[in-house]
Amino acid sequence: MGSRLAVKFWGTRGIIPSPRRSTSVHGGNTSCIEILSDREPTIVDAGFGICHLGETYPEAKPIDVNIIFTHMHWDHIHGLPFFNPIYFPASNIRLYSPLPANTLKQELDILFNGSYSPFDGIENMPANISFHQLNNGDVIAGLDVSFINLQHALGPNDKNPCYGYKFKTADGDKTLTIATDHEALPNKVNQQVLDFAKGADLMIHDAQYTLDEYQTKKGWGHSAMEHAVENISNAEAKLGLLTHHDPHRNDDDLQKMFIKLKAQYPGVSFEFAKERVIYEISHNNLQSKKTG
Ligand SMILES: [Zn+2]
Ligand SMILES: [Zn+2]
Repeated sequence: MGSRLAVKFWGTRGIIPSPRRSTSVHGGNTSCIEILSDREPTIVDAGFGICHLGETYPEAKPIDVNIIFTHMHWDHIHGLPFFNPIYFPASNIRLYSPLPANTLKQELDILFNGSYSPFDGIENMPANISFHQLNNGDVIAGLDVSFINLQHALGPNDKNPCYGYKFKTADGDKTLTIATDHEALPNKVNQQVLDFAKGADLMIHDAQYTLDEYQTKKGWGHSAMEHAVENISNAEAKLGLLTHHDPHRNDDDLQKMFIKLKAQYPGVSFEFAKERVIYEISHNNLQSKKTG
């Protein structure tokens, strides 16, 4: 059985929220992934999906939660002021990034400093909020965490880099990697991502564009679906979940793309991530179940 490792997507959409009837299966909220272990929850990114996750926490019960940021682009942070526990004085919210703790605080404070919301700085929110610089090998919620630079926007030398993460259970039994947002170019950065994700039980990967769309969007920091599936295959990940769905993409479009990609890559196990579905990693297979 071993330690638990599961993910629940609260936001699968890239760039802008896109809730509509035709996106209700795969989801219309921006990036937010909850990681479930045997300990307190850990959340990767605070897109608008985190608002709905926050609704599940009752005020009366103190919450202890970790939030790890991949980068500071709007679609990965703009839900933070609407995360309910931030208004509960009993909440402990620990914010993590490989950036220096003070930089992380400054980057997020813009959401709270009176420019875009009626607050007086993130430090003055009711919850107990702390800022932490993540180091490779840190243990969070009982999971070993490591990170890597991804190919996104200006690339790994950007002053605001984008990080990919690996989470491993303490018994080493289960491994999860997250690479959103990432552009799978045939370069050294991508090779490092493949090495980092080698043999993961679950690899979550950016797949915003079709191959046709990608031709006019090279260098924008996101992957063509085909390249994402090839990365999952080349990393020899046991399963892949494609995310950061383009805001214009409907559930039907994703279903059609899935059938096409499956025919093209019959040996690779992958699917397009769906919101509010728990993907439970369980001994070389992934069990998913839809929850409320
Ligand atoms: Zn993004
Ligand atoms: Zn981004």
